[in-house]
Amino acid sequence: MTVARDFDQLTVVDHPLIRHKLTLMRKVDTTPADFRRLLREISSLLTVEATRNVPLDEVHVETPLCKTAGWRMQDPVPVVVPVLRAGLGMADGVLDVMSEADIGHIGVYRDEETVRPIEYLVRLPSRLSDRTIVVVDPMLATGYSGAHAVTVLLDNGARPENIVFMALVAAPEGVKVLTDMHPKVRVVTASLDSHLNEKSYIVPGLGDAGDRIFGTL
Ligand code: URA
Repeated sequence: MTVARDFDQLTVVDHPLIRHKLTLMRKVDTTPADFRRLLREISSLLTVEATRNVPLDEVHVETPLCKTAGWRMQDPVPVVVPVLRAGLGMADGVLDVMSEADIGHIGVYRDEETVRPIEYLVRLPSRLSDRTIVVVDPMLATGYSGAHAVTVLLDNGARPENIVFMALVAAPEGVKVLTDMHPKVRVVTASLDSHLNEKSYIVPGLGDAGDRIFGTL
């Protein structure tokens, strides 16, 4: 795991399993079924890092041998918020390792001319001010949709220091936009790629994540 230079809030989780799986995802001939499975698996692995500051309460339990102290996630439990539609491809991977989490949804699409986010759905659990929130969106490209999703969460009571933005691949441009606008939000990703091209796609990237997840190429 490395803290990427120039971005205090960015963690690139470069575990060998993640690097192996991400390389398979980048390949142009990887099928949607394999792409979905790999995205889910990497999302589970990234969740371990994204949730490292989740608060715990001490509890006491009885093993078959004796009483012992242990830990339980505090109430209210964390929330996973997929940014629709591509974020849906990561949500199950988060829930595989944190099944207790509640789920919110933020629907945003990008206007292809202005590349600015247009919001069409917001549905969130209550008591956001007391929760860890893991926002999931595979591609942190321009950062406009991601920054917009975080603004929606803050407008609904979330605290910026409790929000983690989890992306499969990030572009430096997107990390900058997101963290300039929301400096307390952590960003966790599997890769900081090179740059955005003239159509705002991440290079080398993996193409349109939503299309590859849902087979809508
Ligand atoms: N969204 C994608 O799905 N891919 C990119 O490269 C950029 C934005």
